Amino acid sequence: MAEFKQARVEEYYEIGEEIGSGQFAVVRKCQEHHGGTEYAAKFVRKRRHAGGRRGLTREDIAREVDILREVQHPNIVYLHEVFEAKDIVVLIFELVSGGELFDFLAQKESLNEQEATGFLKQILEGVVYLHSCSIVHLDLKPENIMLLHRSNPQPQIKLIDFGLARRLTDIVEFKSICGTAEFVAPEVVNYEPLSVKADMWSIGVITYILLSGASPFLGDSNQETLANISAVNYNFDEEYFGQTSDLAKSFIERLLVKQPKKRMTAQESLSHQWIQPRDKKEALKRQSSFINLEKFKVFNARRRWKLSLRVVRLCNQLSRSYHTRHDDSTDSLTDGETASGVDAKPQESKEPNAGMAMTREFLQDASVERLRVNGTEVIVRGDNSRT
Ligand code: AMP
Repeated sequence: MAEFKQARVEEYYEIGEEIGSGQFAVVRKCQEHHGGTEYAAKFVRKRRHAGGRRGLTREDIAREVDILREVQHPNIVYLHEVFEAKDIVVLIFELVSGGELFDFLAQKESLNEQEATGFLKQILEGVVYLHSCSIVHLDLKPENIMLLHRSNPQPQIKLIDFGLARRLTDIVEFKSICGTAEFVAPEVVNYEPLSVKADMWSIGVITYILLSGASPFLGDSNQETLANISAVNYNFDEEYFGQTSDLAKSFIERLLVKQPKKRMTAQESLSHQWIQPRDKKEALKRQSSFINLEKFKVFNARRRWKLSLRVVRLCNQLSRSYHTRHDDSTDSLTDGETASGVDAKPQESKEPNAGMAMTREFLQDASVERLRVNGTEVIVRGDNSRT
């Protein structure tokens, strides 16, 4: 079991502004008292009772920490140290200050496939490394692909959030329905045994979105999205892929393959001709093929619109349930925070796994909004997905 420093984090760090949030965590900037180096402190709430719904079990936190302590790669966020107090564990990470890759790209005026593959190559290098350690991330999506700094001409990718990551050698047959609906592989939807190939599917989805500004399996409901994934129901619509090279499409086609065994590995993806052109002609083709930035920007803007919709929906839900819930209502994540989106109920579903997968998605995509409901301030976590 992972060992954590039994001390108050404030003794060692000055805690600063909030810079992000996760399912049961708030991430704040912090600065070491001794030396002044800046880091990111992730405050994870421990589950209080065995049957509770709020917070993570110490076992879950220890699993994430164990994996993070094992990995060391330029494209994976570095865990510096861990503190433990009665109700909270604080993970001190290197500060990744460049924001999300997708936000960075959405601000560009133009972007060709050569530039895009520069970022994909880094993502793949991180994933090749992870898979070589028999670790599967299981939550690869735009929110978890960040940039160390924005100022460099070629910013450095950092993969973050190992909350769902698993070491595959520890288990004989691992199944899970965790993840965010749009990005999960068919074997996740169908509750079949998982392997490192589940990450490769997610990279296929991310690449599809990056090139076109469209989400390949997104349906009108989550059930529809999951059904589309299971049926591998996608196409390269000319409206979105008019400027895309054939090699880029072939790269995606080799990843969005239902049978995990037939899907490219991370290493094979890295040596695919689109990432590693064989000759000048292929390299030139990549340079003269462009990302559909117009659609990509719309995609990003729609994400924000969906976020506000989700917040309103949550707000209504909370206003109905806020005063009737007492069990954990004073159980705060950090100072003064009260109710949160983790109260949100899973959507009902007739599909065997859809309801649970949805719940997970809903929670994973949390971002915090402070709102007033019936005159009471509540913290609402809204959807953060990028469509
Ligand atoms: P996580 O629960 O690990 O996904 O973290 C929640 C959010 O906090 C992320 O989506 C990021 O916006 C932010 N975040 C997490 N880790 C870092 C880090 N090392 N540096 C900067 N921001 C971070």
